[in-house]
Amino acid sequence: MTDVDRLVIRVSTSIRDALEQLQNTAAGVLLLIGDEGQLLRTITDGDLRRLMLAGFGMHDRLSALPSQPPIVVAENTDMVEALHVMSANQIYQLPVVDVNGRPSRVLFRHDLDTKILLSTPHLGEYEIGFVEEAFRTNWIAPLGPNIDAFEQEIADYLRVKHAAAVSSGTAALHLALHLLNVRPGDVVFCSSLTFVASANPVLYVGAVPVFIDSEPTTWNMSPSALERALAEADQRGKLPKAVIVVNLYGQSADMDALLALCNRYEVPVVEDAAESLGATYKGRRSGTLGRIGILSFNGNKIITTSCGGMLVSNDGDLIRRARFLSTQGRESKPWYEHREIGFNYGMSNILAGIGRGQLKVLDDRVEARRQVFDRYETGLKDLSAFNWMPEAPFGRCTRWLSVASLDPSRSEVAPGNLIDRLARFSIEARHVWKPMHRQPLFSGCEYYPHGEKYSFSDNVFDTGVCLPSSSNITRTQQDRIIKAIGSVLRAQATGEPRHAASQ
Ligand SMILES: *Cc1c(COP(=O)(O)O)cnc(C)c1O
Repeated sequence: MTDVDRLVIRVSTSIRDALEQLQNTAAGVLLLIGDEGQLLRTITDGDLRRLMLAGFGMHDRLSALPSQPPIVVAENTDMVEALHVMSANQIYQLPVVDVNGRPSRVLFRHDLDTKILLSTPHLGEYEIGFVEEAFRTNWIAPLGPNIDAFEQEIADYLRVKHAAAVSSGTAALHLALHLLNVRPGDVVFCSSLTFVASANPVLYVGAVPVFIDSEPTTWNMSPSALERALAEADQRGKLPKAVIVVNLYGQSADMDALLALCNRYEVPVVEDAAESLGATYKGRRSGTLGRIGILSFNGNKIITTSCGGMLVSNDGDLIRRARFLSTQGRESKPWYEHREIGFNYGMSNILAGIGRGQLKVLDDRVEARRQVFDRYETGLKDLSAFNWMPEAPFGRCTRWLSVASLDPSRSEVAPGNLIDRLARFSIEARHVWKPMHRQPLFSGCEYYPHGEKYSFSDNVFDTGVCLPSSSNITRTQQDRIIKAIGSVLRAQATGEPRHAASQ
């Protein structure tokens, strides 16, 4: 939605000023209003051009425009109906007017008919400057001033001592396990409710993953499940070499409880903060509470470098060693000397430039994603089947994704059903991550549920749905999503067949 005040214009305005306003607002349309604020007509570039062809000059006033009843819709008009009006009249902008005929906003066709994706990149105005600087100075390499600066700026933002930029969040996790000397046959505990990238690195190093369930207040690692898992591992005499704690969908896990358990057994914690950059835990930044934290700048994350990642820690030796391993493990000798396996996991100086620009708008992006969540919560209030992922009282969630579970006792519509139906409205929604302990890749791996007989992640996978959450989603697009969800959930009353939860 464009702020309507920027688009209104009065008949006493000159053609020159109108042209300038058209250009500045870049909405393709102005709204000519009368003394009472009522919409008289719309004005496009073509309308002004025609006036001038008819002999009017730059200083003539808009009163010269012929009257032309505007095509408008009322405030409660359905978006499908609005799209229909635009198609029928071959127009791309459609003013919405109140009962007094005053414009309240303008609907844009591209908002109504383009596909709405789950989470898209959202560039700001600073990235290009850093990237141009890299080109100008020929720093097109996996080292350079943007990388050093990006690492320092991330460290400052997180209030952590050291950071090493790498090629992806997955690479950062792989390095983290190396840094903690995880070897073939070792055991690593990992959150089960997560993206596969959290757990794959355990297999890269030849270790054996054991999956730990989440709990309802954070949707993150359950301290009671972890406690049982650690106690049993201790009894068997085979404690894990590391615990990978994931901070899901923009929310920190309950780190104090988890760290207390891990400290008791002296097991280091790797914090997978790929989804939680910008979130806090008791005033501290998510990603800085474990021994090592990892971040991701993949295209779907809250800020992006297209692809990229970061390792952060207060332990300078660990981060120095991460840099050494990520650049082929080259010893400091005049020739190429190698003692141990290294990796090519560096970040490009160009991508670090994008990251520096993105970091400047991170707090805005957090705010925007939280607003997206708030609008869903308000807009879908009357649908009692929606149980939103709670925001735990100990911190601030970024709402990287707006996620809810659908109460099966209040809705016949299963998540797979809703996702399919929204796709028909060109809206991309997705299932909650399928837990790792249910993945064929990890079949046979041990799993510790939240309660002896209750698995939270299984429950949330069967009932959960992630809604489009990009920070650049427009209000009109979000209205479209809210309307579509309403129409799908209310259609159940008319006997839509119930689908089984998909696998
Ligand atoms: C995205 C993601 C990763 C991996 O990050 P990449 O940069 O894509 O390699 C790891 N863990 C979680 C929880 C993620 O969401």
